[in-house]
Amino acid sequence: MIEISPKAMFHVHTYRCRHASGTDREYIERAIELGADEIWFTDHAPYPGDKIGTRMLFTDRPEYISTMKALRKEYAKDIVLKLGMEMEYLPSYDGYIRETRASKDFDLLILGQHYYERPDGSFYFAKREEENADERFGLSEAMIMGIKSGCFDVVAHPDRIFRNCPVWTEDMAEISKKIIDAVRGTDIYLEKNYASSIKRNHYWNEFWELVPDNVRTVKGLDAHSVDSLKILDFEYEPVH
Ligand SMILES: [Zn+2]
Ligand SMILES: [Zn+2]
Repeated sequence: MIEISPKAMFHVHTYRCRHASGTDREYIERAIELGADEIWFTDHAPYPGDKIGTRMLFTDRPEYISTMKALRKEYAKDIVLKLGMEMEYLPSYDGYIRETRASKDFDLLILGQHYYERPDGSFYFAKREEENADERFGLSEAMIMGIKSGCFDVVAHPDRIFRNCPVWTEDMAEISKKIIDAVRGTDIYLEKNYASSIKRNHYWNEFWELVPDNVRTVKGLDAHSVDSLKILDFEYEPVH
């Protein structure tokens, strides 16, 4: 079971995923400047074969681990550096995900279900169009499989699966309850994702109102640039 400090910079990416900017040191030094006591690097995990776009390359994984371990030592007197990765749950990579979970190199894994795997083995990633609103079914099923795999400590932006839904509906509430039920009674955190809260329809208060007090939640940045690091001490204002 992990504990995340209320003064943590949680959910931080690196340039290795090929859609984030800044150096590792710039993130760490900015986090210290802002008064954070922990920084949790959780870059997008690579998958063997590199078939999924804009992710760390599989060959870069050892360097990610060794560099972060060295930086953890170097900055130890100023900040606690935790190392993890953000991964989709994809059934054909179940063995790889379990191996990663068992590895001592990572302090946590977060489940970020941006894609899901179709029965034919292809990967689905919707564009921002309302006709893709049905992605909520495939994404939520994959997310629940991921939660039940026991491999993840945090579910990133669970409400982002509704980003292509224009208004809140009863079936979204039903899907939300299934996700919440899957984490109930576990130590898994549901993440209130700051990056989602500033994008239209990516963050839903209606989801968070269904989450009972005995389910753990954490505020996460999903930072892809040094300038998006901030202390999360405010309430979120979703955009619809
Ligand atoms: Zn990203
Ligand atoms: Zn992320």
